[in-house]
This record gives sequence, structure tokens and C-alpha cells, in this order.
Amino acid sequence: MSEAAEISRIVLPVGVNAVETVNCYVLPDGDRVTVVDCGVWRPDLPDGGLAALEAGLHGAGYGLTDVGRIVVTHAHIDHYGLAGRVMELTGAELAMHALTDLDCEKYRHPDTARARRRDTYADHGVSEAERGDLAHHLTRWLPYLHSVVEASHRLRGGEELTVGGDAWQIVHTPGHSLGHVCLWSPARKTLLSGDHLLPGITPPVTFERGFDADPLRSYLTSLRAIADLRPQTVLPGHGTPFGEPQGRIEAILRTKVRRLEKIRRAIGQQPRSIVELADLLVAKAVLAHQRQLAINETLAHVAYLRWSGVVERRTRPDGVYEWYATADTPLDVTALAAS
Ligand SMILES: [Zn+2]
Repeated sequence: MSEAAEISRIVLPVGVNAVETVNCYVLPDGDRVTVVDCGVWRPDLPDGGLAALEAGLHGAGYGLTDVGRIVVTHAHIDHYGLAGRVMELTGAELAMHALTDLDCEKYRHPDTARARRRDTYADHGVSEAERGDLAHHLTRWLPYLHSVVEASHRLRGGEELTVGGDAWQIVHTPGHSLGHVCLWSPARKTLLSGDHLLPGITPPVTFERGFDADPLRSYLTSLRAIADLRPQTVLPGHGTPFGEPQGRIEAILRTKVRRLEKIRRAIGQQPRSIVELADLLVAKAVLAHQRQLAINETLAHVAYLRWSGVVERRTRPDGVYEWYATADTPLDVTALAAS
């Protein structure tokens, strides 16, 4: 059996906002284990959702108290919600990127975060009736967060974690989340990709005030950096592990660039608000979580165009921002060309 077979995957149930499951990876680490991502707290279940994690650990030959370290690829609640509880029960350390502080801050002050969202949505033309509903995205997730715990081991990218004799490089991969990291083993040619690279779906990249001013550029740049590592095996945060990801990466890059071009064309035809652009792009986003995703992704695309110097915004008489074309130079997507 190959060495890589030692890493086991536990599929943990989530069931919030159309996220059905999340993967937790178990990496043997001496007489303990390191787990990468850990699923959600389940207030509706007597054990808080620990049973699925414990069963998975048992299946791999370990118990819950063997967890010595939790690495969280990014502090979204589906990957992080249970971390505080596992730390309480095991004394495990928590390794996360230093920029996950911003997520922790948001979870500690959800009212402020919601108010900031409502302001953003108002500025970009979301009707008052819809604003509250969309800003409550966070409200739907919060019950699945056991507690807000900061990293006890603050990652910055570029460092190496030794796990059971394997060297795993920490690669900072902002985009899907500003504090996102992937773990890369050059010896195994294996990437623990979190939500940076997923099978089947293009990872959402959304704009949120106070986080990354140009998250899509961050995402495209860090996805190219991952491609350059030439991984052979990808262990993703959702879905089934897959091999030879180059084709998958190119497909994701193409999807993002196509959408950028489409939005740019629409703004070139006439000035438009974010809501008008989101409606053009995702006509069938009827559920609140789809709608808020469509709007936040549109914001990220327009931010990319803005920082590329090809669109700018102004305020309409009704107070809503609209975007207009300022240049018809080609988009500089050289960073996206396969190297
Ligand atoms: Zn996720």
C-alpha cells in the first residue's frame, strides 16, 4: 500500500445552506493525530455532532483524545465550527492563518457584521425588503459554531509542519477566504486543498467589506501558484479526492475569466448596479443563500475590473452605486496563462 493511504478521510454531515458534508482528514502524528478541518457543532444533537468525528477517528484506529492538533484551512463554520469543542476535550492546539482573526472578529460581533452587510447591499441597490434576509446568511450559520477560538499556532504561509515524519508546507491561498491555507507535501505530491480547489464546483469567491479589497485577483493568483506545484493528488474540503488536477484548475480559471468578460461587456453596454449585474448573471438565484452568493460574487468580479482600471463607480440620484466603463483595454489576465 502506498504511504498516502495512511491519510484517512472522514465525511462529516453539515446540512446548512446547501452544504451537505465537509471532509476532515486524519494524519497520523506519532502516537497522536493531526486533523485537518473538523466540521460543525450540532446544537440539535445530544453529543453536539461529535459522534460522526469520533466514529471516523475510531475507523482510522484512534480515539478523540488522540487529537493533538487541529489545522483549519479557513475559518468558515463548516470547517471550523467544532474546533473549540474538540480543543476543550483534547487540549489540541489549533493552527490557522493569522488573518482568520478577521473571521473570529465577525463571529464575536455578528450584529456589526450584519449591519455592515446591510450597508453594502443598500449601496449596491438591494431593496430594503431583501436586505435583511440576505444579511442573515451569518445568522443561519452561527448556531453551528461551538465557540470562537483563535489560533494557538498562527500560520503565515511558507512555514513547514512536520506531521508523523512528513513535511507539509503551508501555502497561503487567499481568495475563497482571506485566511485560507493549503497543505502541500512535495514528497507525496499531495495537496490538502480546503475550499481553494474543489471537484465539480467552482469555489465561490465573494467580496466582503473589511476583508480583501480584490479577492478574485488573490484567488486567481493563488490558484496559479497551486497549479505550479504540480500536485498529483488533491484532498479537497468537500467531495471526493481526485488526481491530476491541472485540467480542473484550468477549467476553474476559464470559468472565472468568462464571467469577468461577461460582466465587463454588460457594463460596457450601459452603466449598471451590482444587483442588475447579478440578475443578468444568475437569473435563477431564488433562495436567499443563492441570491447573497450571486451578489457577493458579482461584487468580487466588479472589484477585479475596478482594480484593473477598466470600470469605475459613481452614485446615481437614488444613492445607489452604478458601474461604468472607463477603458476598453484588454484585461490583463497574463497571470492566468498556463506556465
Ligand atoms: Zn467549505
